Amino acid sequence: MKPVCFAFSLTLISSVAAAQVPAERFSSCMTTLRGDAASKGVSGASFDRLTSGLTPDMSVLEFLDYQPEFRTPIWDYLAGLVDDERVADALAMREKWATTLASAANRYQVDADTVVAVWGVESNFGRNFGKRPLLTSLGTLSCFGRRQAYFRGEFISTLKILDSGDITPERLVGSWAGAFGHTQFMPSTFLRLAVDGDGDGKRDLMDSVPDALASTANFLHRAGWRQGEPWGYEVSLPAGFDSSVAGRSNKRPLSYWNGRGVRRADGQALAASDAAAGLLLPAGPRGPAFLVFRNFDAIYGYNAAESYALAIAHLADRIKGSKGFVTPWPTDDPGLSRQERRELQTLLASRGYPIGEIDGMIGANSRQAIQAEQKRLGMAVDGRPGQQLLTALRAPPAGR
Ligand code: CA
Repeated sequence: MKPVCFAFSLTLISSVAAAQVPAERFSSCMTTLRGDAASKGVSGASFDRLTSGLTPDMSVLEFLDYQPEFRTPIWDYLAGLVDDERVADALAMREKWATTLASAANRYQVDADTVVAVWGVESNFGRNFGKRPLLTSLGTLSCFGRRQAYFRGEFISTLKILDSGDITPERLVGSWAGAFGHTQFMPSTFLRLAVDGDGDGKRDLMDSVPDALASTANFLHRAGWRQGEPWGYEVSLPAGFDSSVAGRSNKRPLSYWNGRGVRRADGQALAASDAAAGLLLPAGPRGPAFLVFRNFDAIYGYNAAESYALAIAHLADRIKGSKGFVTPWPTDDPGLSRQERRELQTLLASRGYPIGEIDGMIGANSRQAIQAEQKRLGMAVDGRPGQQLLTALRAPPAGR
């Protein structure tokens, strides 16, 4: 869960000059926050104890002001999030936590595989939480930058979490924006929706998988999940279809879509019900098309991006044994799985580029190396990691 969409493959281009820390401004801002916190139930003593020695980290402001230089195409986004590796990991986790998942899914009447999919996309099954102390990041964002009002609420929510003892301060680390734990909840979301899944009296999204899975199940439940209904499915459109009726929110009864010639991608007729569905065309009329129901909106509630919701929904389907989409993405240069991204980084490193850790995360160094190779190969120089570049680099250098 992130307050900005597409934090995925975030790349920082500019280098932050060590910004001078305006200590005085931070100090007076904290005094103001102390009053705000008191009016919201955090005592002065608690505030002082929890914020003692707190200093701002101006580097988080870079993320706040980051403008996406590289718009991630939907096929790249999905190729990295829903790859064979994540499906295999999900199946292993589903088996390992079967009892816990069944209990959470039953208690909140949601689909267990969707819960696993959220876990896999949000934190890679607990492997990637982010490393920034929450109070430092949120304190900084509360006092500097352009979204201070929003982050002040999250800062005070963080104080409440720590004051309650659910999580200890040294464990509470997360993304630059304050999303934390297995489920990457924001602090205010934690206060509203986190639950104690293992019954130890604490809601711990950092160190308790049962708490995290139950909290995700509760989130989906509260977002309106209807147990037993699909999120949606891929469809095929008849020739000459007028795609102006597309849109997740433009819900029409299935009979309407049936009358327009829409069929399931596997050739089946649409169900003879009047369930309301929207037509999603993530890459326009020539790419895969989907009819999406209310459960898709429940996933969308977790992170307000249709690409995100489609990743979760598709991963859940893959966990259930489905294959990829029937209609290919409208590109001659499909995206790379994480394994392929690591291979690309390895190939670039072997050509002498300073890639750093081979981690499948395409950061600034990888982008620069990709651009240099694209230029050398006479390809479009866009810094994008795609199949065409990977194929070209796999070939042994000719005549050298
Ligand atoms: Ca617990």
